Amino acid sequence: MDHDDPIEPNHHLQRRYPADSRFCALCAGALRIRTVLPDRKRLKVCERCGFVEFTGPKAVAGCLVIVERRVLLLKRGNPPQIGKWTFPGGYIDLGELPAAAAIRETAEEVGLDVAIERLHGVYADPARPEAMVIVYMATADRGAAPAASPEALEVGFFAPREIPWNDLAFRTTRDALGDWAARIDAPPFR
Ligand SMILES: [Zn+2]
Repeated sequence: MDHDDPIEPNHHLQRRYPADSRFCALCAGALRIRTVLPDRKRLKVCERCGFVEFTGPKAVAGCLVIVERRVLLLKRGNPPQIGKWTFPGGYIDLGELPAAAAIRETAEEVGLDVAIERLHGVYADPARPEAMVIVYMATADRGAAPAASPEALEVGFFAPREIPWNDLAFRTTRDALGDWAARIDAPPFR
C-alpha cells in the first residue's frame, strides 16, 4: 500500500470499525478499555497519549423524492444489501450539510436534481448501530427521469401499495417509507 492507486473500500473490513480497533489513531499506542468521566462510560483509551476513542453512529442523509404521489426507489448496486430496494442516500462528508449530502447522493445515484422540502425523520436500527439516517422529503420536476447507475441497478416511482415491502434494504428504509405511506394513505378527515 505504498503507492497511490485509487482503492475500492472493502465493506466487510469497514464494518469491523470501531469494534475491532486496537491502536490509537494519533500515536499508534495500544488502546485499553477504561472508565471515562464524567459519565463513567467504558471506552477505548490510548495507554500512551490518553486519546479517548469516542465512537457514535455515522450520519447518512437521504431523501424521499415524491412525484405525483409516488416515491423514488432504487435497487442497490453496492454492498451491503445488493439487489434490495431503498431511497437515494449516503454518508455525509465531514463538513457537509445533511441536506446537501442528500441532494448530492441523489444526483450521484440516479442522476436527478432534487429540491429538499423539509425533514421527514431521523431513523436508526439498533441491530445496525453503525449508521443513523436523516431523511428529507424532496421534489423533482414532473418530467424528470431518474437513471440507473452502478449504484442503482433499477429505479422507479412507487405508490405505497406498489412498494416492494418484502424486498427493502434496511429497517430504516422500511420505517421511513412506512411513515410516509401512513401519512398519505390516511383519510383527510376523521
Ligand atoms: Zn495515543
